[in-house]
Amino acid sequence: MVDSHRKQLTALTDEIVACRMCTRLVDWREKIGAEKRAAYRDWDYWAKPVPSFGDTEASLVLLGLAPAAHGGNRTGRVFTGDASATFLTAAMHRAGLANQSTSEHRDDGLNLTGVYVCAAVRCVPPGDRPSPEEQSACLPYLVRELNLLPNLKVIMALGHIAFRATLQTLSEMAGERVRGKFIHGEVYRFGPSLPMMVASYHPSPRNTNTGVLSMDALVKVLIQAKELSQS
Ligand code: SF4
Repeated sequence: MVDSHRKQLTALTDEIVACRMCTRLVDWREKIGAEKRAAYRDWDYWAKPVPSFGDTEASLVLLGLAPAAHGGNRTGRVFTGDASATFLTAAMHRAGLANQSTSEHRDDGLNLTGVYVCAAVRCVPPGDRPSPEEQSACLPYLVRELNLLPNLKVIMALGHIAFRATLQTLSEMAGERVRGKFIHGEVYRFGPSLPMMVASYHPSPRNTNTGVLSMDALVKVLIQAKELSQS
């Protein structure tokens, strides 16, 4: 990555972390950080917008919905410290994208290669449901960030909201409406000027504990997305 891109990405991350645009989400992230879950009462919660994490030279981006209340909002790293993170990181490790199978805290040694992980909304929303206005407010950050990844070829959307956010982002990049219907494992191609998209169910307990998404199924889609990004 050229230095100017790296500097711009660092500046954008600083801007995102300082953002207080969505009043409801600012109140919610700080309330969770002040009240804490009993098991984490000794933690100093992050309670701010959660930055992306991973390999800035990557050609593959994983896009989730938003940080978890006691996961990313506690630890300050996307997909870190909650059940979804545990499932996804084990799958990334099996797919050869992560050096270890766990993601517990910012200094746990996790290193991602060939993949960069973002969220469509950077602050934890009540009930894991950001409003359409909050999603729209946060989307420009994602568009700007993806434009600063020089090798981006494939975006893998985790869940329906991330899928719609990816379509909106690609529409912004293309200057015209990009459409698609969510099908787990499907590959979407929009022409040579845009990244490809791959859809996957979100690795949330709601999906992984009910058989909607198995570990083998997630690993399979991750390997598919990785191979597409490296082709
Ligand atoms: S969700 Fe995004 S736009 Fe809204 S306060 Fe958080 S970082 Fe800012």
